[in-house]
Amino acid sequence: MNSPANSSAARPAAGPKSVAAFQRASALMPGGVNSPARAFGAVGGTPLFIERAEGPYLYDIDGNRYIDYIGSWGPMILGHAHPEVISAITEAAAKGTSYGAPTEAESRLAEQIIEAVPSIEKVRLVNSGTEATMSALRVARGATGRKKVIKFAGNYHGHVDSLLVAAGSAAATLGAPDSPGVTPGAAEDTLVLSYNDVPGLQNAFDQHGDDIAALILEPVVGNMGCVLPTMEFLNAARDLTTKHGSILIFDEVMTGFRVAYGGAQERFGVTPDMTTLGKIVGGGMPLGAYGGRAEIMNQVLPTGKVFQAGTLSGNPVAVAAGSATLRLLKENPPYEQLERLADRLADGLDRAATSAGMAHTVAKAGAMLTLFFNPEPVDCWDVADRCDREAFGRYFWGLINEGIYMPCSQFEALFFSQQHTEAMIDETIAAAEKVLKSL
Ligand SMILES: *Cc1c(COP(=O)(O)O)cnc(C)c1O
Repeated sequence: MNSPANSSAARPAAGPKSVAAFQRASALMPGGVNSPARAFGAVGGTPLFIERAEGPYLYDIDGNRYIDYIGSWGPMILGHAHPEVISAITEAAAKGTSYGAPTEAESRLAEQIIEAVPSIEKVRLVNSGTEATMSALRVARGATGRKKVIKFAGNYHGHVDSLLVAAGSAAATLGAPDSPGVTPGAAEDTLVLSYNDVPGLQNAFDQHGDDIAALILEPVVGNMGCVLPTMEFLNAARDLTTKHGSILIFDEVMTGFRVAYGGAQERFGVTPDMTTLGKIVGGGMPLGAYGGRAEIMNQVLPTGKVFQAGTLSGNPVAVAAGSATLRLLKENPPYEQLERLADRLADGLDRAATSAGMAHTVAKAGAMLTLFFNPEPVDCWDVADRCDREAFGRYFWGLINEGIYMPCSQFEALFFSQQHTEAMIDETIAAAEKVLKSL
């Protein structure tokens, strides 16, 4: 697929070095990438190959600099290559990169997580967000002795078989919400409901209440674009799971340490039974975590009988990066600054789209934001699905040509960092205004 920008813009959107690198990679890896969204399938054209990143900027191998609005899809809230995170990583690496035996640093990170996240009394470290949700689900099923799980359309919880149903972002934009290779058996105990639909939720519990092991949700959705929950919806999820003895899991892989230090559960004051973390908690290294009430977490081996293990879990280099990141976020909280920048960006994009006569809405929660090419307020997947994807592709490439790197899908929230300034936000708005007018 050719991007519209490739055929019409003054200069090609991807430079010659990226084009060559992508050709080489495509012969070696499926789609030339190690995670599908990176292949730019939703916007067309050739992905930019990255040379390095610093603060708010990405640099591609053709020598172009971009203001980065993906932040590695969430982790880089402090900006890229933060000197204190890098020195924590290099100090840890110099002492050896993996032992397969416990360290004190793991307890320090566990203390930081438990202190930050209201629902977590005990935690286990894993290597990715996917591992965290997969493990939390197993523990919930083990603890309740029940099979069924409720999830919501457009919520993504990693590539766990039983959760890869109506799974938003990468899956949705590829038009393959249900992956081949996921057996009907793996998915048959998953009930898919519509986000923010309180009567639907009530109904599901009326019908299946005593069979429901867990309800898992993104407490602010990032994976169908940024979609906010209503308080009524979060409260219903909390009340119904309590009433029926099911475990409420907040998947805060994206929202944890982003929409507030203690995640969405702190922001909204609703405390789940279990929480999954990833992205920021690893400070840009592969690390995830799941945790919850002690009584539930004590079901995990070796205290309990639910099996979950990992050769590299609690890896000293990843733990050092995560621990330094959380320490910096706690010592010098960026959250008010991020909120102000989000307001400025949301207002600016809204004005730009209005003056270009583009049907749109903007949604945000802290440093997480989406400009939807859809005039309806987006509160669930059915509405998100009606966005103008084609216009989004042209918007994306237009901004690349202006030196702005947005998420390459309508169904991914944009993220920014503590290193983004008002001037960069204003530059972004001016570029968006120019691009939107040209659509
Ligand atoms: C990114 C994400 C995951 C998966 O995490 P990985 O580290 O990519 O496996 C799970 N849940 C949510 C909400 C996410 O945003």
